[in-house]
Amino acid sequence: MDIESFDMIVLGAGSGGLAAAIRAGRHGARVALLDDGVIGGTCVNVGCVPKKAMWYAAQMADGFGLARDYGFKDVADGPLDWPAFIGRRQAYIDRIHAGYRKTLADTHVHMIATRGELIAADRVTTGSRTFSAPHIVIATGARPRRLDTPGFELGMVSDGFFDLRECPRRTAIVGGGYIAVELAGLLRALGSDVTLYVRHRLMGGFDEPMAYALGEHMVGHGIDINYRCQIQDVRREGEQLWLTCDKGDQPGPYDALIWAVGREPNSSGIGLEALGVERDADGHIVVDRYQDTCVPGIHAIGDVTQAKALTPVAVQAGRCLADRLFCGKPDAHVDPDYIPSVVFSHPPLATVGLTEAEARQAHGDAVTVYHGSFVPMQFALAGRSERSLIRMVCAGPDERVVGLHMLGVEADEIMQGFAVALRLGARKKDFDTTVAIHPTSSEELVLLNARTA
Ligand code: NDP
Repeated sequence: MDIESFDMIVLGAGSGGLAAAIRAGRHGARVALLDDGVIGGTCVNVGCVPKKAMWYAAQMADGFGLARDYGFKDVADGPLDWPAFIGRRQAYIDRIHAGYRKTLADTHVHMIATRGELIAADRVTTGSRTFSAPHIVIATGARPRRLDTPGFELGMVSDGFFDLRECPRRTAIVGGGYIAVELAGLLRALGSDVTLYVRHRLMGGFDEPMAYALGEHMVGHGIDINYRCQIQDVRREGEQLWLTCDKGDQPGPYDALIWAVGREPNSSGIGLEALGVERDADGHIVVDRYQDTCVPGIHAIGDVTQAKALTPVAVQAGRCLADRLFCGKPDAHVDPDYIPSVVFSHPPLATVGLTEAEARQAHGDAVTVYHGSFVPMQFALAGRSERSLIRMVCAGPDERVVGLHMLGVEADEIMQGFAVALRLGARKKDFDTTVAIHPTSSEELVLLNARTA
């Protein structure tokens, strides 16, 4: 059998794999990119992009009531035409696919629409073809976790959410992380009665007071949250679903059940075991800061590794790797500090840097937290009382800002610039001496003076 030679082979055409392949292609490397799925992976097809589209529609639905409060007449809470909107959503995604295909062609990346398996540290087979390269990049991503709870299959995971063609009247969501909180908010705004089943707290790992406040906001929006509750089984009666909780109650009926209980890396069945590529107990591939596995020539990026499961992290890892291998930048790597992130909840929760608890662990008593709470002008005008919250975590005598957290409308668009400031080492006094932009919500970040420690 002929062996086709490349400089780099990438397994997985999601955001990370595409970024690595395209950047390497731009540097003149001969790249093969293998994937048997839809180009763009989770983010483009069943993640960030369609979710954000739904979030925009949900924001629009929230806007009807606000418009009436402002004095607009005859604004009715018209239901969303899901099939029409999903057509729009898909057209947008199709344009992303087309953009990727063009860029792959422009950078001479060989896209091979099949699954690949490693048979040596420099060799991949598809069954009928064999490829070799000195660098193989595993970018196979992750998939929704499935539990062995009886009746699990009666519910859907996040991938299935994007197949919905109408808004379920009553929805149960299990989980308290990014996906659970985001889907709960947008389904509620689009008219579903939503109940969330959370085993501990919302948004574990996020600054606790902000996560608590998010829960309060969600309840204020009409979402029912059951804390410290595990689902033990699910049963169908006719078209409807009933749950059994560990506390003994049997809530229902629900038209839809969504499991949002985390994700698992796609790291098996691709030949890693036989080659001795190290994985952790959850199956994540172990890499160093340069995305190198313990086997020379095999690299891994994105959600299949232990890195934060965020698209931009995977993209940057892919680009840094390509720059290091093919553009003479031996130290190119992702800086794991100050990675910002936004939960597209209602309202959004934006964060960068350390939580208060993390800061106290790292800096002991030398931690000061500044906080603020205000009603954004757009709500105050409407006579509403929904407050936005800010918490700024500072460390050391010069009060370096090591964490910034904001819950409230527009937090999603505000945090990116402040993430740059934190990376540059901004101190509280740099915020204080920055002139505000008035009237905005973002100005509240440079006007904070209430402190808690
Ligand atoms: P998360 O890790 O965010 O949350 C998983 C949730 O499921 C947690 O509340 C967890 O509880 C709970 N859970 C885990 N196992 C069980 C179980 N057996 N029974 C009941 N509950 C359980 O995962 P998601 O699936 O929501 O999202 C995956 C990742 O994708 C995120 O961590 C994030 O990195 C990324 N993502 C990013 C988005 C963004 O940037 N806006 C949007 C969506 C996803 P506990 O806390 O107790 O462990």
